[in-house]
Amino acid sequence: MKHERPFLPYGRQDIDEDDIAAVVSVLRSNFLTQGPEVDAFESALATVVGAKHVVAFANGTAALYGACFAAGLGPGDEVVTPTLTFAASANAPRYCGARPVFADVEPSAGTLSPEALARVIGPKTRAVIPVHYAGQPADLAAIAEVVRDAERRFGGTIRIIEDAAHALGATYRGEPIGSGRFGAMAMFSFHPVKHITTGEGGAIATNDDGLADTMRLFRSHGLVKDPRRTERPSPGPWYMEQVLLGQNFRLTDMQCALGRSQLRRLSAFLERRRAIAAQYDRLFADVPHVRPLGRLPESEHAFHLYVLRLDFAAIGATRAEVMKALAELGVGTQVHYIPVHRHPFYEREGWKAGDFPVAEALYEELLSIPMYPTLTDDDVARVASAVRTVVGRG
Ligand SMILES: *Cc1c(COP(=O)(O)O)cnc(C)c1O
Repeated sequence: MKHERPFLPYGRQDIDEDDIAAVVSVLRSNFLTQGPEVDAFESALATVVGAKHVVAFANGTAALYGACFAAGLGPGDEVVTPTLTFAASANAPRYCGARPVFADVEPSAGTLSPEALARVIGPKTRAVIPVHYAGQPADLAAIAEVVRDAERRFGGTIRIIEDAAHALGATYRGEPIGSGRFGAMAMFSFHPVKHITTGEGGAIATNDDGLADTMRLFRSHGLVKDPRRTERPSPGPWYMEQVLLGQNFRLTDMQCALGRSQLRRLSAFLERRRAIAAQYDRLFADVPHVRPLGRLPESEHAFHLYVLRLDFAAIGATRAEVMKALAELGVGTQVHYIPVHRHPFYEREGWKAGDFPVAEALYEELLSIPMYPTLTDDDVARVASAVRTVVGRG
């Protein structure tokens, strides 16, 4: 059967006329970058997530790198992160010279398992990067307890840096992700498949003045320009001091204007994502060999992804065959994620198949189906019926 209706990708942006007008107005203004839109976006986002500071970055990966830098991570340090994530969660500490240490995940929700964390946390651990996989907040209270216990046993500080790229608008125990109750810093991404977009973009939310300060310096060459804050007396208006080895990881004013405009619709986006998830839950309730990924209590899911688990052996088709058949019916899918320790780069560092049996078994079953606010109820029904057709084929 050939599809005449549009192809449904697994994720996509929703840009309206207000978003376009916001960007165009920056293009007509004096500042394309380092202008007033950056502060405006940062404070709007800080209000939404309930954090004292938000520091915007060129992308989520750069933001996570900035957070690791501000946490003071370096050679000799270890950082624990779940293996079922995007490579950036492990790469960011690695950029600082720290060693990513992988941990296994909860069998149902795919988020960092506090028990697995307890097994690998040690005297060299300086940070933990839990991932709110698919938009489901990890069990932050249990993770924080393991971290506090390790601090007591080994001494020193262990920072919790949340990879919240999937979780803008999610809540844990009634508080928004990013509000800093459990994590020192939380990273958001504004890639077009995420909850709000700036094209490329990312940010860190934190309540810590010092961390925010260091991240602001880091994203802009490590340069101090405020004459009240330079180490040496300022000889004149041109003077600035480089005080640390920073980068150029700034987000432009065009992007921040887009982000702020998108942020106004965040509640509507979330509401739609949750309604779609509820519709999928109902439609898949009685489909054999197919079940949605599990959920954890005490949280409100942000549904960046809607992840199915498929028993491909029982279905009698490989994942590649199922993905191809769905694509022919106009339904895009993706696999989130190949466990990071299985990438050749990390295998060369000594990780191997069998190290994390829960994540590896989950990986074999995962399939992300279309999830984004502009999907209509008809689209959702069409996705579910395509999955039924393909799975039923055997
Ligand atoms: C998207 C994403 C990132 C990185 O964000 P970019 O903005 O694409 O750099 C990091 N971690 C996870 C889990 C992500 O999904």
